[in-house]
Amino acid sequence: QKRVSGIPKALYGGRHTVTMLPGSGIGPEMMNYVKEVFRYAGVPVDFEDVQMDATAESNEDLEYAITSIRRNGVAIKGNVETGSMRRGVFSRNVALRNELDLYVNVLNCKSYPGVSARQQGIDIVIIRQNTEGEYAMLEHESVDGVVESMKVVTSENSERVARYAFEYAKRAGRRKITTIHKANIMKLSDGLFLETSRKVAKEYPEIEHNDMIIDNCCMQLVSKPHQFDVMVMTNLYGTIVSNVVCGLVGGAGLLSGKNYGDHYAVFEPGTRNTGTSIAGKNIANPIAMLNAAVDMLEHLGHKYHAEIIYDAIEKTINEDRIHTPDLGGQATSIDVVQNIIKHLQQKTRTSNWH
Ligand code: ADP
Ligand code: MG
Repeated sequence: QKRVSGIPKALYGGRHTVTMLPGSGIGPEMMNYVKEVFRYAGVPVDFEDVQMDATAESNEDLEYAITSIRRNGVAIKGNVETGSMRRGVFSRNVALRNELDLYVNVLNCKSYPGVSARQQGIDIVIIRQNTEGEYAMLEHESVDGVVESMKVVTSENSERVARYAFEYAKRAGRRKITTIHKANIMKLSDGLFLETSRKVAKEYPEIEHNDMIIDNCCMQLVSKPHQFDVMVMTNLYGTIVSNVVCGLVGGAGLLSGKNYGDHYAVFEPGTRNTGTSIAGKNIANPIAMLNAAVDMLEHLGHKYHAEIIYDAIEKTINEDRIHTPDLGGQATSIDVVQNIIKHLQQKTRTSNWH
């Protein structure tokens, strides 16, 4: 069996080079915080900065970004809003995932005890098909006033995402997987997705498998979220459910998401927001992007650095409770970052042999 997301490529003398796509909105400032935190933690990672142009009328910037990720194997990214509605100008975010065949998105939704959120003690993993379904970008106006949009579900991709989910559950010691669908209405497309996950489930008798219709799932998530362990679903349901769960544990500024394929890995904030309205105000929560950076370090095998940064994040959020306004606090983005750096300095002072 192929190893998901390959082996990080750009490694020279113990240092990795990683593609950094700041994106628009709050993306660039968040990336500066990542660089600053990495500097204090002494992380052996170099960034290749690539700007994607949200207003471009061609796809050249996109092609350059894809080439860079192909070379480096790994990227960290902010969200890019695609300005042009012109035909043939693709959503940067969707095209990137499709071109690199990043077929699975993984969102670990774990509550922070220090955040007063709608729900406490949540520990859900959302595993989402990331390249097809309703995001196939195959839309056309067949006759005036009639638009057709294709939702594409293939057995190959349904199987890859189901298999990823069960392998993940096995590896992470998770007990239950719930497939989310609307197969009662979309009998063929969601039907295939559901059937495929049932077929894969048979190979993993030690993991409980059930399924739930997407509308009921949304209600259950709001009222009784603790029943969920690992959830697997198609693309559009995935983005909606991710936003619901992030909302339950503390909003858009907290959690990170991972995009994997057989060859590449891209790390980003979990709900993929641009945050245009809060950009440049020193109020955006830097935690989601810093968590994405920690995910990236784990993926690269920089376990020590991932651990010290994550530890500093946890102390900042749970113990010191330095919270930005989205979490109900009054701290600025910079307050949060400086507090994280303070913890890192204490750590690196006592263990500078690493
Ligand atoms: P917009 O681009 O219109 O600002 P988004 O759709 O990008 O909004 O984000 C949705 C909501 O989440 C907005 O209210 C935005 O301010 C908020 N948000 C997104 N990212 C963060 C963050 N890192 N910290 C705080 N709030 C955020
Ligand atoms: Mg937006």
